[in-house]
Amino acid sequence: VQAVRSALAQGLSFGAPTVAEIELAKTLCTHIPSMEQVRMVSSGTEATMSALRLARAYTGRDKIIKFIGGYHGHADAFLVEAGSGALTFGSPSSPGVPQAVASDTISLPYNNSAAVEEAFDTFGEQIAAVIVEPVAGNMGCVPPLPDFLPALRTLCDRYNSVLIFDEVITGFRLGLQGAQAYYGVDADLTTLGKIMGGGMPAAAFGGKRAIMQQLAPEGAVYQAGTLAGNPLAMAAGFATLQQLEAPDFYASLLAKTNCLTAGLKERAEQAKIPLCLQQVGSMFSLFFTEHQAVTDYQQVLSSNTKHFKTFFHTSLAAGIYWAPSPYELGFMSGAHSDDDIQLTLDVAEKAFAAL
Ligand code: PLP
Repeated sequence: VQAVRSALAQGLSFGAPTVAEIELAKTLCTHIPSMEQVRMVSSGTEATMSALRLARAYTGRDKIIKFIGGYHGHADAFLVEAGSGALTFGSPSSPGVPQAVASDTISLPYNNSAAVEEAFDTFGEQIAAVIVEPVAGNMGCVPPLPDFLPALRTLCDRYNSVLIFDEVITGFRLGLQGAQAYYGVDADLTTLGKIMGGGMPAAAFGGKRAIMQQLAPEGAVYQAGTLAGNPLAMAAGFATLQQLEAPDFYASLLAKTNCLTAGLKERAEQAKIPLCLQQVGSMFSLFFTEHQAVTDYQQVLSSNTKHFKTFFHTSLAAGIYWAPSPYELGFMSGAHSDDDIQLTLDVAEKAFAAL
């Protein structure tokens, strides 16, 4: 807040790059291993949409692969649902998305590298990009199986397609270097949002220089934004990242999350409620299911939403507001205190009992 206040005194918007923008850009490129160049935008949707255009221009191809249950913002190409099955050409999942756009989006089951290989066997020379949330975070918390991200890297290399890691959630949540360092898999392009703006409208996409250089004004791929790199948002992002750089920040965030998730598991067991609690770092979610692990959207759908609703409303009535959908994540924040965690556990005990 202090950083934003002092930026405010210098002016709201300049329509030109500022020192704050350069500082934040340097910080992003220092931390994210595959990010050699970066472009600021104002929302995660802009970041993924622009990364996709760039990937298509770079490869001269149109088709993309995304994963069922993944969310990459509301650009037309990503608002495509697909039925179950190995390979489906999507139909639009929102009115207003043209069929022609949707037909270039191939939606595949998350964590199914065989399905991705099959899609590349059939359409390899037409696939511009694979876009993936390295930890799926928009169908609850679904971690990648050990072979999944490496398989995407291998297939993109084999077919010269661009691998886009959508790290709008995982970027600066799993650590300073993002999911790509956490899992040791290099992305060609990375999208960032949310945390990197410290609560202000800021997002970014960046990656390999050879690809980024295609972007206007250096290259021919058009992208621009009057409000992109807004100085207040840049100041908020820079100040936030400085706090995350404190040596024990992520260790303490993880310890707090472990305390909450262990306490939740214990209380669910005591109440004999089948619960599959999935967690990666400070992201986690509760699936009310007998499954030991939830690995794709089909399994997510089979969890007991009635239990979730009762759990949610009992908790809300007692003052604890969980994300209001079984498909959304829980996040631990640096701001949560031990008392917050204890209160959440006390309320969860009552909510489990209500089931
Ligand atoms: N990508 C991911 C993984 C997201 O979770 C979101 C938003 O939730 C987006 C992209 C879109 O970001 P925004 O809402 O800032 O447009």
